[in-house]
Amino acid sequence: VKPAPFEYLRAADVADAVSALAEAAGDGKILAGGQSLVPMLALRLARPTVLVDINGISGLAALTPTGDAVEVGALVRHRRLAEQHEHPLLAEAARWIGHTAIRTRGTVAGSLAHADPSAELPVVALATDATATAVGPRGTRTVPAEELFLAPLMTSLSEQELITAVRFRRPTRWGFAEFARRHGDFALVVAVVAEIDGAVRLALGGVGPVPRRTAAAEAVLAAGGRASVAADAAAAEIDPTADLHGSVAFRRALTAEMVRRALAAAGID
Ligand SMILES: Cc1cc2nc3c(=O)[nH]c(=O)nc-3n(C[C@H](O)[C@H](O)[C@H](O)COP(=O)(O)OP(=O)(O)OC[C@H]3O[C@@H](n4cnc5c(N)ncnc54)[C@H](O)[C@@H]3O)c2cc1C
Repeated sequence: VKPAPFEYLRAADVADAVSALAEAAGDGKILAGGQSLVPMLALRLARPTVLVDINGISGLAALTPTGDAVEVGALVRHRRLAEQHEHPLLAEAARWIGHTAIRTRGTVAGSLAHADPSAELPVVALATDATATAVGPRGTRTVPAEELFLAPLMTSLSEQELITAVRFRRPTRWGFAEFARRHGDFALVVAVVAEIDGAVRLALGGVGPVPRRTAAAEAVLAAGGRASVAADAAAAEIDPTADLHGSVAFRRALTAEMVRRALAAAGID
């Protein structure tokens, strides 16, 4: 299948991109790495009339440590994330995304804006209390990761907003665990542990329509409970559905195991 016809605009700067999106009145789409959008265009699952290419905008590809956080520009590619040393949790998560070709093009902001329920970076964003900077016709706002993901492939961003950067807090302890059937496949379950401001946060992907934190498991850990108890609490707390990959029981068992591994990697038993 070929994409439906669209107009292609190469934005010179952020203001240019925002005004092009505003002019498209809901029918425009940002083109970043194209690793999710282009397949959707080809399958006609997305039919924008205007594509606003942001790859030529300078200043969106910086990775800047800022004290307790790292600010990652919208156009930072997964590959760069995987190779940096400022935020080892982000580096580890990025290494699990697809294959080299995908990591070379795909961007951090594209991953968050695409909001795939099994994607790694949205789970890291939740675990590290990340915030996205979004610019739209009404100005700039800060969107906490907790408020970003609404449904599969749906965020709280308006169709006229552009993420320019994402600020990920740096955890004092962290752990990452993922299970996929084959190397490079989307995850069946992702578990991310991050200690931020002395509290252990636990976020999961692949266990429902959106990535989520696990209040019951976090409460177990805050009360000094064992990792195995927290893992069981996380598995009980999620509400997965059966799919072609396995039953609800399988997904719960996998979740408990991934949480156990992520906690062990963080040095929490
Ligand atoms: C074979 C294959 C395997 C993959 N495996 C994985 C995997 O294991 N894990 C994983 O997480 N991902 C995986 N991906 C997807 C990949 O990570 C994409 O890079 C990512 O989902 C989207 O980033 P992108 O820069 O390519 O965005 P694009 O495809 O360009 O855009 C995706 C969506 O985000 C919007 N968007 C892009 N940038 C912005 C912005 N700055 N502000 C607002 N909206 C924006 C676009 O309009 C579009 O709706 C895979 C892709 C392929 C093709």
